[in-house]
Amino acid sequence: MKRNVLIIGAGGVGQVVVHKCAQHNDVLGDIHIASRTLSKCEAIVRSVHEKGSLKTHGKLVAHQLDALDVEKTAELIRTTGCRIVINVGSPFLNMSVLSACIATGAAYVDTAIHEDPRKICETPPWYGNYEWKRRAECDKAGVTAILGAGFDPGVVNAYARLAQDEYFDRIDSIDIVDVNAGDHGRYFATNFDPEINFREFTGQVWSWQENRWTANKMFEIRKDWDLPVVGMRTTYMTGHDEIHSLSRNLDVPNIRFWMGFGERYITVFTVLKTLGLLSEQPITTAEGQEVVPLKVVKAVLPDPSSLAPDYTGKTCIGDVVKGVKDGKKHEVFIYNVADHAQAYCEVGSQAISYTAGVPPVAAAILIANGEWDVGTMANVEELPPRPFLQLLDRMGLPTRIKDKDGDRPLTFGARRTGAPKKAGAPATAD
Ligand code: NDP
Repeated sequence: MKRNVLIIGAGGVGQVVVHKCAQHNDVLGDIHIASRTLSKCEAIVRSVHEKGSLKTHGKLVAHQLDALDVEKTAELIRTTGCRIVINVGSPFLNMSVLSACIATGAAYVDTAIHEDPRKICETPPWYGNYEWKRRAECDKAGVTAILGAGFDPGVVNAYARLAQDEYFDRIDSIDIVDVNAGDHGRYFATNFDPEINFREFTGQVWSWQENRWTANKMFEIRKDWDLPVVGMRTTYMTGHDEIHSLSRNLDVPNIRFWMGFGERYITVFTVLKTLGLLSEQPITTAEGQEVVPLKVVKAVLPDPSSLAPDYTGKTCIGDVVKGVKDGKKHEVFIYNVADHAQAYCEVGSQAISYTAGVPPVAAAILIANGEWDVGTMANVEELPPRPFLQLLDRMGLPTRIKDKDGDRPLTFGARRTGAPKKAGAPATAD
């Protein structure tokens, strides 16, 4: 049984991960948080003590770490005795943290695809440019590496697998819909790292349509959805991490991602992009100073974690799945609704950080108890979804199902087993 967790990254998501690990330290053991800025780790440790989140008496220690330094990261894993690493630092760190895990044999969990700071929107599938190249190494070393175990990517991948296992004989399309109907009261702010947020939208929009990659422009394709709780919402088709693994691991011809945007976001984004202020490429000022415009924009925008105290409203994220069951056309919406104020009350974070931070802790618990300790690299849809969704149900992210029979919670009476329809899934028992 793997115990003792090292959490890398002390941002909005890191805060949730540390609180949730603390709430489950009877299973997870010692908790170590390491990030570039020590004071941020220490502030999170203080908030865990203030909220009394530790379930049992146990270690909770803050460390300073540059996680791009593989040797230092491996040394910290060894000296702390951590057997599970949850990487919720910037996506620029994934490959170095994964290397440290392979070197030490620790299990690895992340919530986003690796990115090279100097490149945006690389050739799809994005996992193929970085993570999947290390799969054989993980296999050889017997290292469990669970990729993209946040909400989207993450829980929505588990929803897709659940739909395939239990609700359809054939799936024709999966539309992942992500709407934040919350209000943070600021003129403009992003809900997670502004640099990463903008990088998602400055390149082409890649979707999987008719079994091939299709390119569109940002804000080119609009669709309105009438969603539970949050009502009628406008979304735009955007590129997103989960399409890049679902298109390989599930036999589904159409997989798209739809993100809700308000008019204010679209206006600010368009102005910044048109002026060149969202560029990831360095420029030199008249004074000879080299700057990356996008990093300057990040530096002047609100820290996403600072939005939490005033945030109201809810998020609704889920999969609209269409296909055929028992010879008849069928459609389901598998989803979660999260509440900003409730998340703040529990762990001091807003709901975007909460929905991203709870799932990697559920994944860590499944690694600790062996259910997801697969000894190789896997995307979430390659793993049995029910243990994950059942844990999330108890940990604050319940799943609901809406179809022609109504809108109801996903229930967990008897567990069903379902083998993935394509090869490549680790042999774990549900
Ligand atoms: P933040 O920017 O708030 O936090 C990132 C943290 O990483 C910061 O504490 C930062 O340190 C730290 N960091 C950056 N570089 C280094 C380094 N070299 N060494 C050590 N630490 C470093 O981001 P979020 O918390 O909002 O997001 C965290 C991750 O979660 C991102 O990968 C994001 O893409 C992902 N995410 C996933 C979602 C999902 O549903 N799958 C949804 C939302 C986010 P410092 O404080 O010094 O800057």
